[in-house]
Amino acid sequence: MTPEATAAAAALGVGLAVARRRPGCAPLRLHRGHTTLVARDERAEQMSDLTHLSDDQWRERLTPEQYNVLRGKGTERAFTGAYWDNKDEGLYRCAACDTPLFKSETKYDSGSGWPSFFEPLTAEAVRFERDTSYGMMRTEVLCGTCGGHLGHLFDDGPEPTGQRYCMNSVAMDFEPSDEPTR
Ligand SMILES: [Zn+2]
Repeated sequence: MTPEATAAAAALGVGLAVARRRPGCAPLRLHRGHTTLVARDERAEQMSDLTHLSDDQWRERLTPEQYNVLRGKGTERAFTGAYWDNKDEGLYRCAACDTPLFKSETKYDSGSGWPSFFEPLTAEAVRFERDTSYGMMRTEVLCGTCGGHLGHLFDDGPEPTGQRYCMNSVAMDFEPSDEPTR
């Protein structure tokens, strides 16, 4: 990253965690094949571009609702999002950068009104930050690739992890499975 890009990333609130990421370690599009070296390099370049987008560029890329959550760390109202009650099989991707985040097999009905999962697709798909806003001590969940705010992590989830990834529907895009497993 250039110094300008690093400064821009810091200004975005993306933080040094992203700036310090090793180049080329962005999650690949899974289950798509064609992970040639060239494709991987192009993908990594696209991702590194995302980490230093300006605030105006994010506003252009995202809908106002997406921007409010992904960049403004807002929370959609419970039971209003597109996916809290979605039981279809498929993949949930980051709405900002398309990174695969969760699969439907790990989604469960938490009763919270937000889409809830007991684990992310991979350890690298998400990252965490301490969130002390609103007088609460919470763990914020961010996209591991673009740093977008996704939701929060709680320890009242079901087996096998006991974790609850409480996500915002608007921060994700759902991709239905082409081939249902049933
Ligand atoms: Zn992302």
